[in-house]
Amino acid sequence: MKELQDFLAGRIWLRDFTPFSREVIDKAVNDGFIAVRKGITEKMECARCLNNSEDTIVAFDCARCGGICHYCRHCIRMGRVSSCTELITWKEPLEISSYSHSFLWNGELTNLQQQASDELKESLRRNEPHLVYAVCGAGKTELLFPPLHAALSSGKRICIAAPRTDVVLELSPRLKSVFPGTIIHTLYGGSPSEEGFAQLVIATTHQLYRFEEAFDLVVVDEADAFPYSYDPALARAVKKSLKTAAPVVYVSATPSKELLKTVSNQSRIFRRFHGHPLPVPAYQPLWSYRKSFHSNKIPVKLVEWVKTQLESQQPFMIFFPTIEMIKQAEPLFKQLDPRIKAVHSKDPDRKEKVMMLRNKEIPGILTSTILERGVTIENVQVAIVGADEEIFEASALIQMAGRAGRSHEYPQGDVIFFHNGISRQMDKARDLIKSYNREGFR
Ligand SMILES: [Zn+2]
Ligand SMILES: [Zn+2]
Repeated sequence: MKELQDFLAGRIWLRDFTPFSREVIDKAVNDGFIAVRKGITEKMECARCLNNSEDTIVAFDCARCGGICHYCRHCIRMGRVSSCTELITWKEPLEISSYSHSFLWNGELTNLQQQASDELKESLRRNEPHLVYAVCGAGKTELLFPPLHAALSSGKRICIAAPRTDVVLELSPRLKSVFPGTIIHTLYGGSPSEEGFAQLVIATTHQLYRFEEAFDLVVVDEADAFPYSYDPALARAVKKSLKTAAPVVYVSATPSKELLKTVSNQSRIFRRFHGHPLPVPAYQPLWSYRKSFHSNKIPVKLVEWVKTQLESQQPFMIFFPTIEMIKQAEPLFKQLDPRIKAVHSKDPDRKEKVMMLRNKEIPGILTSTILERGVTIENVQVAIVGADEEIFEASALIQMAGRAGRSHEYPQGDVIFFHNGISRQMDKARDLIKSYNREGFR
């Protein structure tokens, strides 16, 4: 029973797909521990993801019940929720007994980090939302440690949600080493099942669909990143996963106007932890680069740039607007150096390839926006091909530029926007970076 409670507390789960036997679940339902509800409500809303759009609540001939059922297409990837399936929740809220969480961290915060950390701790003490507005490389994860420790110690259940699996996988080992005595679960699509009651959950925002009134605090990391900012359902999922009146902490290098307006407690860090300014992007025209790749040629200026990096043995990342273009470009770049590799969102080996770049086993990597954030490579030089393309919004450009100059030893680095005409988003990104540098050094 304890195992069942540990698993289900704060969760909303398909009755037929738990890691427990049917008998165990049936008994807990009969004994009144588990509440059961329909997957699709009478108002035609999905009880798991709260989607109620007519386009995605779809009627079908149901083999399960033999009638006409509706199912939710929006959250289908987590197992189908339909009118005749049941969702279960644990009835009683779980009392978390506070115990001392060991806190193993001997790093030091800069003055700005320390101030933000203290301000955040104070907001959480008052149970209020908070926005940490920090430039790429400001060291935002570290400043979360002391407030998280205080919250864990006072018996709060916490979720750190990030929009991308890569970011979740990067955060998880860091938090596990800082809080070695705390049960921490890491959840993403296809993650292995874990045991015990997790007081700290690190999850992709999508995984929050499976929680309900679970957390005393949700930290939304990279609050601006795709897909969170484009999908109101994910914002609803964050809200649903929270207990009543529990706060959200937003962490972002490029917060939306809305976020800046609605969250009144804010900490700003416009200076990197090593004290150097952010590299400012340089513009470089690269006329008709599409045509050029089509006719199997790398534009001359890009060749020159890559050769410079190869000669000086500086690792480089080249961002492309489409996977197609990466595929066209890869064999051409391999003629410059056969070790150059390409990655994109559908590449299962991308972690290994990033590791190879970090270990200097390969000189450079061609990539889609999948590596725009959460990746730190010492002394990396950054080029964006087609910086003017629509897919590259200012926030994405800032993130990609933010890969350069992150370490103490190499605080500078090239950031080149190769373009076919300067876009408004390019200017917006460069102006913002300059303004951070001005404000960070006042
Ligand atoms: Zn749904
Ligand atoms: Zn049915």
